[in-house]
Amino acid sequence: MKFTPIIGLEVHLELKTASKMFCGCPAAHFGKLPNTQTCPVCLGLPGALPVPNQKAIEWTIKLGLALRGKIPRISKFDRKNYFYPDLPKGYQISQYDRPLVLGGQLAGVRLRRVHLEEDTGKLIHEKDATLIDFNRSGVPLVEVVSEPDINRAEKADEYLKKLQRLGRFLSITDAEMEKGQMRCEPTINLKAEEGKKVYYTPLVEIKNINSFRFVQKALAYEIKRQQEEFVKTGVIKQAGNKTTRGWDEKKQITFLQRAKEEAADYRYFPEPDIPPMRFTTEDIEKIRTTLPELPEQKRERWLKEHNLSEYQIEILLDRYEEFEQKIKEFKDVSPKDIANAIINKRPIISSVGAHHDVPVEPMVKEILAQNPIVIEQYRAGKTTAIEFLVGRVMKATNGQAEAKKVRGELQKQLTAS
Ligand code: ZN
Ligand code: MN
Repeated sequence: MKFTPIIGLEVHLELKTASKMFCGCPAAHFGKLPNTQTCPVCLGLPGALPVPNQKAIEWTIKLGLALRGKIPRISKFDRKNYFYPDLPKGYQISQYDRPLVLGGQLAGVRLRRVHLEEDTGKLIHEKDATLIDFNRSGVPLVEVVSEPDINRAEKADEYLKKLQRLGRFLSITDAEMEKGQMRCEPTINLKAEEGKKVYYTPLVEIKNINSFRFVQKALAYEIKRQQEEFVKTGVIKQAGNKTTRGWDEKKQITFLQRAKEEAADYRYFPEPDIPPMRFTTEDIEKIRTTLPELPEQKRERWLKEHNLSEYQIEILLDRYEEFEQKIKEFKDVSPKDIANAIINKRPIISSVGAHHDVPVEPMVKEILAQNPIVIEQYRAGKTTAIEFLVGRVMKATNGQAEAKKVRGELQKQLTAS
Protein backbone atom coordinates (compact mmCIF):
# COMPACT_ATOMS: atom_id res chain seq x y z
CA MET A 1 0.00 0.00 0.00
CA LYS A 2 1.24 3.44 -0.94
CA PHE A 3 0.62 6.45 1.31
CA THR A 4 0.85 10.09 0.25
CA PRO A 5 0.40 12.89 2.80
CA ILE A 6 -2.00 15.69 1.88
CA ILE A 7 -1.09 18.79 3.87
CA GLY A 8 -2.65 22.25 3.93
CA LEU A 9 -1.48 25.14 6.08
CA GLU A 10 -3.41 27.85 7.83
CA VAL A 11 -1.06 30.56 9.01
CA HIS A 12 -1.88 33.54 11.20
CA LEU A 13 0.45 36.54 11.10
CA GLU A 14 0.24 39.45 13.51
CA LEU A 15 0.66 42.76 11.73
CA LYS A 16 3.03 45.25 13.33
CA THR A 17 0.82 48.30 12.82
CA ALA A 18 1.03 51.02 15.46
CA SER A 19 -2.54 50.49 16.64
CA LYS A 20 -4.97 47.60 16.88
CA MET A 21 -7.43 46.55 14.18
CA PHE A 22 -10.54 48.39 15.33
CA CYS A 23 -9.40 50.78 18.08
CA GLY A 24 -6.52 53.10 18.95
CA CYS A 25 -4.78 50.84 21.49
CA PRO A 26 -1.14 49.96 20.70
CA ALA A 27 -0.85 46.71 18.76
CA ALA A 28 2.54 45.68 20.20
CA HIS A 29 1.67 43.53 23.19
CA PHE A 30 4.56 41.13 23.70
CA GLY A 31 6.05 41.45 27.17
CA LYS A 32 3.65 44.23 28.22
CA LEU A 33 1.98 44.28 31.63
CA PRO A 34 -1.33 42.37 31.25
CA ASN A 35 -4.47 44.40 30.50
CA THR A 36 -2.67 47.73 30.19
CA GLN A 37 -3.48 48.19 26.47
CA THR A 38 -7.23 47.94 26.33
CA CYS A 39 -10.26 50.13 25.73
CA PRO A 40 -14.03 49.63 25.49
CA VAL A 41 -13.70 48.49 21.84
CA CYS A 42 -11.16 45.71 22.34
CA LEU A 43 -12.78 44.70 25.64
CA GLY A 44 -16.09 44.31 23.82
CA LEU A 45 -17.99 46.66 26.13
CA PRO A 46 -21.56 47.55 25.15
CA GLY A 47 -21.94 50.44 22.74
CA ALA A 48 -18.31 50.52 21.62
CA LEU A 49 -17.93 50.82 17.85
CA PRO A 50 -15.09 49.41 15.72
CA VAL A 51 -13.18 51.67 13.31
CA PRO A 52 -11.07 49.66 10.81
CA ASN A 53 -7.33 50.24 10.67
CA GLN A 54 -6.59 51.51 7.15
CA LYS A 55 -2.91 50.50 7.32
CA ALA A 56 -3.80 46.91 8.21
CA ILE A 57 -6.11 46.71 5.20
CA GLU A 58 -3.43 48.13 2.89
CA TRP A 59 -0.78 45.79 4.26
CA THR A 60 -3.00 42.75 3.72
CA ILE A 61 -3.51 43.80 0.10
CA LYS A 62 0.23 44.40 -0.18
CA LEU A 63 0.86 40.84 1.01
CA GLY A 64 -1.79 39.59 -1.40
CA LEU A 65 -0.08 41.33 -4.31
CA ALA A 66 3.31 39.93 -3.30
CA LEU A 67 1.71 36.47 -3.26
CA ARG A 68 0.30 37.15 -6.72
CA GLY A 69 -3.25 36.82 -5.49
CA LYS A 70 -6.33 38.53 -6.87
CA ILE A 71 -7.66 41.60 -5.07
CA PRO A 72 -11.45 41.67 -5.41
CA ARG A 73 -12.92 45.15 -5.83
CA ILE A 74 -15.32 44.61 -2.97
CA SER A 75 -14.52 43.14 0.41
CA LYS A 76 -16.23 43.13 3.77
CA PHE A 77 -15.91 42.09 7.40
CA ASP A 78 -18.08 39.42 9.00
CA ARG A 79 -18.80 38.28 12.50
CA LYS A 80 -17.65 34.80 13.37
CA ASN A 81 -19.73 33.79 16.37
CA TYR A 82 -18.44 31.45 19.03
CA PHE A 83 -17.93 31.44 22.76
CA TYR A 84 -14.51 31.37 24.37
CA PRO A 85 -13.24 33.32 27.38
CA ASP A 86 -10.55 35.09 25.33
CA LEU A 87 -13.21 36.55 23.02
CA PRO A 88 -15.08 39.18 25.03
CA LYS A 89 -17.63 40.15 22.34
CA GLY A 90 -18.75 36.57 21.75
CA TYR A 91 -17.68 36.93 18.13
CA GLN A 92 -14.51 37.64 16.21
CA ILE A 93 -14.55 40.22 13.44
CA SER A 94 -13.13 38.29 10.52
CA GLN A 95 -13.88 37.84 6.82
CA TYR A 96 -16.05 35.10 5.40
CA ASP A 97 -17.16 35.10 1.77
CA ARG A 98 -15.39 38.25 0.58
CA PRO A 99 -11.79 38.14 1.77
CA LEU A 100 -9.30 40.84 0.77
CA VAL A 101 -7.28 38.38 -1.33
CA LEU A 102 -8.24 35.34 -3.39
CA GLY A 103 -5.79 32.78 -4.77
CA GLY A 104 -2.07 33.37 -5.16
CA GLN A 105 0.87 31.07 -4.72
CA LEU A 106 3.96 30.60 -2.59
CA ALA A 107 6.79 28.07 -2.94
CA GLY A 108 4.81 26.29 -5.64
CA VAL A 109 1.85 25.87 -3.27
CA ARG A 110 -1.48 27.31 -4.36
CA LEU A 111 -3.20 29.66 -1.96
CA ARG A 112 -6.92 29.69 -1.32
CA ARG A 113 -7.27 33.08 0.30
CA VAL A 114 -5.79 35.74 2.55
CA HIS A 115 -8.06 37.59 4.92
CA LEU A 116 -7.87 40.08 7.76
CA GLU A 117 -9.30 39.64 11.23
CA GLU A 118 -8.68 40.53 14.85
CA ASP A 119 -6.66 38.52 17.33
CA THR A 120 -8.21 37.25 20.56
CA GLY A 121 -7.07 37.81 24.12
CA LYS A 122 -4.66 35.41 25.72
CA LEU A 123 -5.39 32.85 28.40
CA ILE A 124 -2.72 32.36 31.04
CA HIS A 125 -3.08 29.09 32.90
CA GLU A 126 -1.93 29.32 36.50
CA LYS A 127 -1.97 26.53 39.05
CA ASP A 128 -5.46 27.10 40.42
CA ALA A 129 -6.94 29.52 37.92
CA THR A 130 -6.91 30.75 34.37
CA LEU A 131 -6.24 34.45 33.85
CA ILE A 132 -7.04 36.54 30.79
CA ASP A 133 -4.84 39.20 29.24
CA PHE A 134 -6.71 41.38 26.73
CA ASN A 135 -3.65 43.26 25.43
CA ARG A 136 -3.67 40.99 22.37
CA SER A 137 -7.43 41.34 21.85
CA GLY A 138 -8.02 43.21 18.60
CA VAL A 139 -4.46 43.07 17.24
CA PRO A 140 -4.59 42.90 13.40
CA LEU A 141 -4.19 39.32 12.26
CA VAL A 142 -3.74 38.15 8.68
CA GLU A 143 -4.76 34.62 7.87
CA VAL A 144 -3.13 32.90 4.89
CA VAL A 145 -4.86 29.68 3.85
CA SER A 146 -3.16 27.31 1.42
CA GLU A 147 -4.65 24.59 -0.73
CA PRO A 148 -3.68 21.07 0.42
CA ASP A 149 -0.83 20.94 -2.10
CA ILE A 150 1.94 19.89 0.26
CA ASN A 151 2.93 16.24 0.56
CA ARG A 152 6.10 16.33 2.66
CA ALA A 153 6.84 17.80 6.08
CA GLU A 154 9.99 19.46 4.65
CA LYS A 155 7.90 21.23 2.01
CA ALA A 156 5.69 22.66 4.77
CA ASP A 157 8.85 23.97 6.39
CA GLU A 158 10.02 25.61 3.17
CA TYR A 159 6.60 27.21 2.65
CA LEU A 160 6.49 28.59 6.19
CA LYS A 161 10.01 30.00 6.02
CA LYS A 162 9.24 31.69 2.73
CA LEU A 163 6.06 33.18 4.15
CA GLN A 164 7.92 34.45 7.20
CA ARG A 165 10.64 35.96 5.02
CA LEU A 166 8.09 37.61 2.74
CA GLY A 167 6.24 39.16 5.67
CA ARG A 168 9.54 40.58 6.92
CA PHE A 169 10.58 41.85 3.49
CA LEU A 170 7.28 43.71 3.31
CA SER A 171 7.87 45.11 6.84
CA ILE A 172 4.33 44.18 7.83
CA THR A 173 5.09 41.57 10.50
CA ASP A 174 8.02 40.37 12.60
CA ALA A 175 6.62 36.85 12.28
CA GLU A 176 8.50 35.40 15.27
CA MET A 177 6.90 32.04 15.93
CA GLU A 178 8.23 31.90 19.47
CA LYS A 179 6.48 35.19 20.23
CA GLY A 180 3.21 34.02 18.72
CA GLN A 181 3.47 36.58 15.90
CA MET A 182 3.29 33.71 13.43
CA ARG A 183 1.09 30.74 14.23
CA CYS A 184 0.56 27.71 12.10
CA GLU A 185 -2.19 25.11 12.04
CA PRO A 186 -1.58 22.32 9.55
CA THR A 187 -4.39 20.06 8.35
CA ILE A 188 -3.30 16.63 7.25
CA ASN A 189 -4.57 13.29 6.05
CA LEU A 190 -3.18 10.56 3.85
CA LYS A 191 -4.08 9.22 0.46
CA ALA A 192 -3.78 5.43 0.63
CA GLU A 193 -3.50 3.55 -2.64
CA GLU A 194 -3.77 -0.18 -3.03
CA GLY A 195 -3.70 -1.12 -6.68
CA LYS A 196 -6.55 0.80 -8.21
CA LYS A 197 -8.29 1.40 -4.90
CA VAL A 198 -7.87 4.82 -3.30
CA TYR A 199 -8.75 5.71 0.29
CA TYR A 200 -8.35 8.84 2.38
CA THR A 201 -7.61 8.75 6.10
CA PRO A 202 -9.65 11.01 8.47
CA LEU A 203 -8.71 14.68 8.33
CA VAL A 204 -6.77 16.06 11.30
CA GLU A 205 -5.99 19.64 12.26
CA ILE A 206 -2.94 20.14 14.50
CA LYS A 207 -2.83 22.96 17.03
CA ASN A 208 -0.40 24.48 19.57
CA ILE A 209 2.74 24.40 17.45
CA ASN A 210 5.12 27.23 18.23
CA SER A 211 8.26 26.60 16.21
CA PHE A 212 9.27 25.56 12.70
CA ARG A 213 10.96 22.49 14.06
CA PHE A 214 7.78 21.34 15.77
CA VAL A 215 5.72 21.80 12.61
CA GLN A 216 7.96 19.27 10.91
CA LYS A 217 7.98 16.97 13.92
CA ALA A 218 4.21 17.12 14.40
CA LEU A 219 3.61 16.40 10.71
CA ALA A 220 6.10 13.52 10.67
CA TYR A 221 4.47 12.07 13.78
CA GLU A 222 0.99 12.45 12.34
CA ILE A 223 1.96 10.85 9.01
CA LYS A 224 3.22 7.79 10.85
CA ARG A 225 0.26 7.70 13.25
CA GLN A 226 -2.37 7.95 10.52
CA GLN A 227 -0.66 5.28 8.48
CA GLU A 228 -0.57 2.85 11.40
CA GLU A 229 -4.13 3.71 12.40
CA PHE A 230 -5.39 3.09 8.87
CA VAL A 231 -3.61 -0.24 8.54
CA LYS A 232 -5.07 -1.30 11.88
CA THR A 233 -8.65 -0.02 11.59
CA GLY A 234 -9.29 0.85 7.94
CA VAL A 235 -11.29 3.92 9.07
CA ILE A 236 -11.60 6.47 6.25
CA LYS A 237 -12.37 10.17 6.02
CA GLN A 238 -15.97 11.34 6.28
CA ALA A 239 -16.97 14.48 4.45
CA GLY A 240 -17.19 17.51 6.72
CA ASN A 241 -15.50 15.76 9.62
CA LYS A 242 -12.30 16.99 11.13
CA THR A 243 -10.50 15.89 14.26
CA THR A 244 -8.44 18.39 16.22
CA ARG A 245 -5.22 17.18 17.78
CA GLY A 246 -2.79 19.16 19.89
CA TRP A 247 1.00 18.97 19.71
CA ASP A 248 2.57 17.93 23.00
CA GLU A 249 6.01 19.48 22.94
CA LYS A 250 7.31 17.51 25.92
CA LYS A 251 6.14 14.08 24.79
CA GLN A 252 6.70 14.90 21.10
CA ILE A 253 3.33 13.47 20.14
CA THR A 254 -0.03 14.73 18.93
CA PHE A 255 -2.99 14.04 21.21
CA LEU A 256 -6.73 14.06 20.63
CA GLN A 257 -8.44 17.33 21.52
CA ARG A 258 -11.79 17.19 19.77
CA ALA A 259 -13.02 14.15 17.86
CA LYS A 260 -15.35 14.10 14.89
CA GLU A 261 -16.00 17.78 14.78
CA GLU A 262 -18.65 18.71 12.22
CA ALA A 263 -17.83 21.67 9.99
CA ALA A 264 -18.32 24.30 12.71
CA ASP A 265 -21.35 26.53 12.45
CA TYR A 266 -20.09 29.96 13.33
CA ARG A 267 -23.27 31.69 12.09
CA TYR A 268 -21.20 34.12 10.06
CA PHE A 269 -23.01 37.30 9.14
CA PRO A 270 -21.90 40.69 7.76
CA GLU A 271 -20.46 43.00 10.41
CA PRO A 272 -23.21 45.62 10.68
CA ASP A 273 -20.97 48.31 12.21
CA ILE A 274 -18.47 48.41 9.32
CA PRO A 275 -19.55 49.22 5.77
CA PRO A 276 -18.20 47.05 2.92
CA MET A 277 -14.86 48.16 1.46
CA ARG A 278 -14.49 49.12 -2.19
CA PHE A 279 -11.19 49.42 -4.03
CA THR A 280 -10.53 51.11 -7.32
CA THR A 281 -7.79 50.03 -9.70
CA GLU A 282 -5.87 53.15 -8.65
CA ASP A 283 -6.13 52.17 -4.98
CA ILE A 284 -4.63 48.79 -5.71
CA GLU A 285 -1.96 50.10 -8.07
CA LYS A 286 -0.96 52.65 -5.46
CA ILE A 287 -0.40 49.85 -2.96
CA ARG A 288 1.54 47.91 -5.59
CA THR A 289 4.03 50.78 -5.85
CA THR A 290 4.92 50.23 -2.19
CA LEU A 291 6.18 46.69 -2.89
CA PRO A 292 9.93 46.34 -2.36
CA GLU A 293 12.09 43.96 -4.38
CA LEU A 294 10.78 40.58 -3.26
CA PRO A 295 12.87 37.59 -2.13
CA GLU A 296 12.38 35.67 -5.37
CA GLN A 297 13.28 38.74 -7.44
CA LYS A 298 16.41 39.23 -5.39
CA ARG A 299 17.24 35.56 -5.78
CA GLU A 300 17.12 35.84 -9.57
CA ARG A 301 19.04 39.09 -9.70
CA TRP A 302 21.78 37.90 -7.35
CA LEU A 303 22.10 34.73 -9.36
CA LYS A 304 22.47 36.67 -12.58
CA GLU A 305 24.44 39.72 -11.43
CA HIS A 306 26.57 38.30 -8.65
CA ASN A 307 26.80 34.66 -9.64
CA LEU A 308 26.04 33.52 -6.09
CA SER A 309 25.28 29.90 -5.27
CA GLU A 310 21.81 28.79 -4.11
CA TYR A 311 23.33 28.10 -0.72
CA GLN A 312 24.72 31.62 -0.43
CA ILE A 313 21.48 33.18 -1.62
CA GLU A 314 19.45 31.21 0.86
CA ILE A 315 21.53 32.52 3.78
CA LEU A 316 21.84 36.08 2.50
CA LEU A 317 18.14 36.54 1.77
CA ASP A 318 17.65 36.66 5.52
CA ARG A 319 20.48 39.22 5.81
CA TYR A 320 19.93 41.14 2.60
CA GLU A 321 20.12 44.57 4.21
CA GLU A 322 23.62 43.88 5.50
CA PHE A 323 24.71 42.28 2.22
CA GLU A 324 23.44 45.11 0.04
CA GLN A 325 24.87 47.71 2.38
CA LYS A 326 28.32 46.07 2.14
CA ILE A 327 28.12 45.93 -1.66
CA LYS A 328 27.63 49.70 -1.64
CA GLU A 329 30.37 50.21 0.90
CA PHE A 330 33.04 47.98 -0.68
CA LYS A 331 32.78 48.94 -4.33
CA ASP A 332 36.11 47.32 -5.21
CA VAL A 333 35.25 43.92 -3.70
CA SER A 334 33.20 41.50 -5.74
CA PRO A 335 29.74 40.73 -4.29
CA LYS A 336 30.69 37.07 -4.30
CA ASP A 337 33.65 37.77 -2.01
CA ILE A 338 31.45 39.93 0.17
CA ALA A 339 28.91 37.10 0.34
CA ASN A 340 31.64 34.67 1.38
CA ALA A 341 32.97 37.02 4.01
CA ILE A 342 29.53 37.58 5.54
CA ILE A 343 28.61 33.91 5.54
CA ASN A 344 31.97 32.81 6.97
CA LYS A 345 31.96 35.69 9.46
CA ARG A 346 35.23 37.04 8.08
CA PRO A 347 36.09 40.68 7.59
CA ILE A 348 35.69 42.02 4.07
CA ILE A 349 39.09 42.68 2.55
CA SER A 350 39.30 45.69 0.31
CA SER A 351 41.95 45.52 -2.43
CA VAL A 352 42.15 49.29 -2.59
CA GLY A 353 44.45 49.16 0.38
CA ALA A 354 43.95 51.01 3.57
CA HIS A 355 40.60 52.65 2.77
CA HIS A 356 38.88 49.99 4.77
CA ASP A 357 40.88 49.14 7.80
CA VAL A 358 40.44 45.47 8.53
CA PRO A 359 38.46 45.27 11.75
CA VAL A 360 40.99 43.30 13.73
CA GLU A 361 39.14 43.37 17.02
CA PRO A 362 36.26 40.95 16.24
CA MET A 363 38.60 38.62 14.38
CA VAL A 364 40.98 38.46 17.34
CA LYS A 365 38.03 37.79 19.58
CA GLU A 366 36.88 34.94 17.40
CA ILE A 367 40.31 33.36 17.12
CA LEU A 368 40.72 33.55 20.90
CA ALA A 369 37.35 31.86 21.38
CA GLN A 370 38.51 29.05 19.11
CA ASN A 371 41.80 28.49 20.94
CA PRO A 372 41.25 28.18 24.69
CA ILE A 373 44.21 25.82 25.11
CA VAL A 374 46.64 28.23 23.50
CA ILE A 375 45.34 30.96 25.79
CA GLU A 376 46.06 28.75 28.78
CA GLN A 377 49.57 28.10 27.56
CA TYR A 378 50.13 31.82 27.08
CA ARG A 379 48.89 32.61 30.55
CA ALA A 380 50.99 29.84 31.99
CA GLY A 381 54.02 31.75 30.77
CA LYS A 382 54.57 30.44 27.25
CA THR A 383 54.49 33.93 25.73
CA THR A 384 55.57 32.71 22.29
CA ALA A 385 52.10 31.14 21.99
CA ILE A 386 50.94 34.56 20.92
CA GLU A 387 52.76 34.13 17.61
CA PHE A 388 50.59 31.12 16.86
CA LEU A 389 47.50 33.27 17.42
CA VAL A 390 48.89 36.09 15.27
CA GLY A 391 49.32 33.52 12.53
CA ARG A 392 45.73 32.36 12.87
CA VAL A 393 44.37 35.89 12.61
CA MET A 394 46.59 36.64 9.61
CA LYS A 395 45.34 33.50 7.91
CA ALA A 396 41.71 34.37 8.64
CA THR A 397 42.19 37.78 7.06
CA ASN A 398 44.05 36.38 4.06
CA GLY A 399 47.17 38.17 5.24
CA GLN A 400 45.53 41.55 4.88
CA ALA A 401 45.74 42.58 8.52
CA GLU A 402 48.74 44.35 9.93
CA ALA A 403 50.68 41.86 12.05
CA LYS A 404 51.79 44.50 14.54
CA LYS A 405 48.23 45.64 15.08
CA VAL A 406 47.03 42.05 15.46
CA ARG A 407 49.70 41.34 18.08
CA GLY A 408 48.75 44.49 19.97
CA GLU A 409 45.06 43.61 19.91
CA LEU A 410 45.81 40.05 21.02
CA GLN A 411 47.83 41.31 23.96
CA LYS A 412 45.06 43.70 24.86
CA GLN A 413 42.34 41.07 24.78
CA LEU A 414 44.46 38.44 26.50
CA THR A 415 45.14 40.70 29.45
CA ALA A 416 41.62 42.12 29.58
CA SER A 417 39.73 38.86 29.96
ZN1 ZN B 1 -8.61 49.00 22.34
MN1 MN C 1 -8.34 32.92 11.84
